[in-house]
Order: sequence, then C-alpha cells, then structure tokens
Amino acid sequence: MIMYADRINSLPPYLFAAIDKAKAEIARKGVDVINLSIGDPDLPTPSHIVEAMKESIERPERHRYPSYEGLLSFRKAAATWYKKIMNVDLNPEDEVLTLIGSKEGIAHIPLAFLNPGDISLVPDPAYPVYNIGSILADGKPFKMPLLEENDFLPDLDAIPAGIAKKARLMFLNYPNNPTSAIASLKFFEEVVDFSNENEILVIHDNPYSEMAYDGYKAPSFLSVSGAKEVGIEMHSLSKTYNMTGWRIGFAVGNREILSGLGKVKTNVDSGAFEAVQEAGITALTGPQDCVREMNRIYKERRDVLLTGLNELGLHVKPPRATFYVWVRVKGKSFDFTRMLLEKAGIVATPGIGFGEYGEGYIRFALTQSVDRINEAVDRMRKLDI
Ligand SMILES: *Cc1c(COP(=O)(O)O)cnc(C)c1O
Repeated sequence: MIMYADRINSLPPYLFAAIDKAKAEIARKGVDVINLSIGDPDLPTPSHIVEAMKESIERPERHRYPSYEGLLSFRKAAATWYKKIMNVDLNPEDEVLTLIGSKEGIAHIPLAFLNPGDISLVPDPAYPVYNIGSILADGKPFKMPLLEENDFLPDLDAIPAGIAKKARLMFLNYPNNPTSAIASLKFFEEVVDFSNENEILVIHDNPYSEMAYDGYKAPSFLSVSGAKEVGIEMHSLSKTYNMTGWRIGFAVGNREILSGLGKVKTNVDSGAFEAVQEAGITALTGPQDCVREMNRIYKERRDVLLTGLNELGLHVKPPRATFYVWVRVKGKSFDFTRMLLEKAGIVATPGIGFGEYGEGYIRFALTQSVDRINEAVDRMRKLDI
C-alpha cells in the first residue's frame, strides 16, 4: 500500500498535464501543431558559451564535486555583471550564491524561513513554484491577486493586517511571467517599506530582466534603498542566454538570507557542475550582442503576433519585457485554449494554470519563428473569436 505524504496530496492538480494530453491527441491525428505555450527559448545557446563549456569539460579538476556556494570566479562574474547591468554593489564572497537554476533556489528558500503554518505571500497568477515551494515547506501561501486594473502589481494595502503580521516571506517577479507586467522603482520602495513594517523577507525573482524592448530597462529590486536589508533577488542564465537545459542561476543580496538558503542547499544538493559555472562566467562577462540579437528577434515576433491579435479584436498592450503575451479572452481560459488547439492546432497556455486570478486570460510565448507566428495568426483569422 503506497501512501503519499499530505504535502504531496495537497499540491494543486497539474493542469498542464491535461493540455499535454490534448496536444498529443491532436498531433496524432496528423495536425501540424504550432506550440506557443513553451517558456523555453527556441534558439540555441550562443556558440562562444558552448565553446567555453567544451574547454572546461576537458579539465579533470572540473569533474569533481563543486563547492555548495559555487566557484568564487563565477560569483565574482555575477557580482561584476550586477554592478555593470544593475548598478548594484555585491560582495562575491557572501552576497552571491550559485544556484542549479533559479527554480531550485525558489523551491528551497521556504525550507529555510517557514515554520509549519507560517504564511508566505505569493502572487497569483504566477510561476507555480512560489506557491508549491511554500506548500512543500508546510507553509501557508496567501495569494496576492495581480489584477489588470493595478497593472498586475499586488495591492499591498489589500493584504489584511493580521496576515501581513504573520507572513515571513513575500515572492515577487518583475518583469512578470505570465502577465509580462513590469514594476517601477517606486513600487519596489513600497515593498521595502511594507517588508520593514511587517518583518517580511522579500524574494524577488528576476530571470527576465534582460528580455526588454522599446528602450525599457528592467531594474533590480536591490537597486532601491534598504532592499538588501530585507531581501534577495534570484537570477538565471536560462532565459537571457538560452541556457535552460544547463541549470545555472544565482541568488544575490542579503547575506543572512543567502546563508539560510545555503544551509538548505549544503544538505540537499552538491552544487552546480563547475564546467557549467565556467560557461556561465563566459556568458556573463563575454560579448553581450547575443542578448541584443535575441531581443531583436523577440520584438519582431511580438509585433507580428500583436498586429494579428489586434486585427482579431484581441487588444493587447505591447509587452515591454519578457517573451510572453497575456491576452484577455472571452469565456473560460481552458475552454479557449482547447478551442484554439482543436480548431486551429495552436497551443497556448490557459491563464487558470497560473492561478485562479489568471482565469479569463491566455498566455502566448514568443518561442516560434515569425513564419510560424504568421501561420498561427492566419489560422486564428478563420475562427470566430
Ligand atoms: C523560467 C523561470 C524561472 C526558472 O528558471 P531556471 O533558472 O531555469 O530554473 C524562474 N522564474 C520564472 C518566473 C521563470 O519564468
């Protein structure tokens, strides 16, 4: 008799499994499926980064267990990158921690700071790991709705005082997945004040900072005064350098928070492969034209999709960051994506998959070529939407 622990039984159902099943059914019928649901860059890792990996992997000293906090050379590269890109000063010795991709850091942080029953404030809709990581640590996630009328920022004043007092952690993510919303420095300042008033640690997840358009520059949460006293920022090489499969990211900011995360990590993982960290150093310190080129490509795709959606009467403000387009649709989001799949062979993600406040929206990811996006728009023209 196999019995799952309560914390596993209490996880929300994995909606994306239902979509995968429907997609496989349609593909089996021979339909040429256009998948606009994947938040994973479709283009390869830039070749100078791959070359750095090849060189590093030839060196036997790189084959051994890494240190849990990461190579100092990688942490220095991350600190230098933060100074250059974000104008944030970090001590590579204790204000930078290497992660095996940022998802790992997000999932582990509640284990370091939540006692059973402690509250964590999580946005909704959101990347699911803030909520699930809190549940796995026996914490109690409290949802902060991200509403269109608030530009998809949480309304901090709407958080009941009793909840705020009991909360230990707050997760935020701007530029945002799935809504593509951005946050101002003023909002980050309000977060620091709120966090000081209520003694809440802030975890800002920032993997899309470099994916920005139309002259927009996404700030670091740590660039506002007082942020480093209350929070950390998670960063990832996955989206910026097309390195999702490599598993490399880092956390920066408050040294005591990082030390708590580090304590969990020393006991559950053994660090990121050093050859991958060396490739990461090349990514962070090498030429950055690859980032500009990717943004040019995403912007072109964004414009093609938005022009098409507008013609269809689906009006969307052009996102200034991320590779997502968040669209309000008629009816239930799951029914809408099912219709898109069955009638047009297009896969989009239903907003409900990101939480209850994602209902009524769908998410397109700009991870297909302009030709494929044009084809998707042509197919949607034939539908009644
Ligand atoms: C993709 C993504 C991540 C995970 O990135 P990895 O570094 O590959 O683990 C984290 N947060 C958000 C919001 C993401 O979209």
